[in-house]
Amino acid sequence: MEKVVIIGAGAAGLTAAIYTARANLEPLVIEGMQPGGQLTTTTEVENFPGFPDGIDGTELMDKLKAQAERFGAKFLQYDAVAKADFSARPFKLEMMAGDPIEAKTVIVATGATAKYLGLESEQKFMGRGVSACATCDGAFYKDVPVVIVGGGDTACEEAMFLTRFASKVTLVHRRDQLRASKIMADRTINHPKIEMAWNSVIDEILGDDSGVTGVRIKDVNTGETKEIPASGYFSAIGHKPNTEAFAGQLDMDEVGYLIANGVKTKIDGVYTAGDVSDSVYRQAVTAAGTGCAAALEAERFLEAQGD
Ligand code: NAP
Repeated sequence: MEKVVIIGAGAAGLTAAIYTARANLEPLVIEGMQPGGQLTTTTEVENFPGFPDGIDGTELMDKLKAQAERFGAKFLQYDAVAKADFSARPFKLEMMAGDPIEAKTVIVATGATAKYLGLESEQKFMGRGVSACATCDGAFYKDVPVVIVGGGDTACEEAMFLTRFASKVTLVHRRDQLRASKIMADRTINHPKIEMAWNSVIDEILGDDSGVTGVRIKDVNTGETKEIPASGYFSAIGHKPNTEAFAGQLDMDEVGYLIANGVKTKIDGVYTAGDVSDSVYRQAVTAAGTGCAAALEAERFLEAQGD
């Protein structure tokens, strides 16, 4: 039986691991299918405090893992939780591949996955001009044109952010009206650096050995296609929280984000950290912060139980 099981090995899970390991709780981190989390899909991270020259996303996650290992955290690789049972203690975790795991406390840090359109060319240029995080990668596109797809608050917020760097931002939306809140939509539409491509979908991302060079868009009404030169392509069509394994066990909103009071779920001994319960900030440093908070709560809970 484990004292602390941390599900997920991104910024939230690894920070929770550092804290619980330093408290001698020998946490078990279930790494899942994307160890390191979303930061491993980006390149340079320039906004994580403590790295004035920036740091590669994967390297940052490797360092967090090494820090947790140094204090005795254990890592379960190549496996993920298929189904959790929080109805009684000890909590039970059914695994995709291995034997079930029992835990006194659980920290759910499974994160969220940015949605992409699913084009082959998106995959091809991933990290070489294709990104789903303008806050992370926008600064690399100084004085060059970029394209962003989406029509919600995220797309508007990220399009506005990109105007600080890019020479021009084209926002491609499949309808003739934004889904975003009116104030955000108005600001976006009226921004001098943002051009709207209404009723349009991305047909293909174009590029060469150097990375993305543009996109081909298609008008959904006329079928007409057009090429837009761009050095960056940003997907902002929403995120999907990784919460399938907790269906029926933990409260979720309509999208699937876990609903928690701070980091506390409705089950004593089960905590959340990071993007799995955060659709608003979604930053590595906020994920790390809630990972720390969840770890402290787990420690307190175990102490109160006499463990
Ligand atoms: P969202 O509101 O679900 O919007 C997703 C957008 O992507 C929609 O406009 C949708 O088009 C488009 N889309 C989805 N799938 C697509 C596809 N396959 N091809 C082309 N377009 C596609 O997601 P979000 O913008 O990430 O926002 C999520 C939540 O966070 C919202 O509740 C939002 O209000 C909130 N949020 C708030 C703030 C803020 O207040 N500052 C900032 C960011 C996010 P359709 O409109 O045609 O469906």
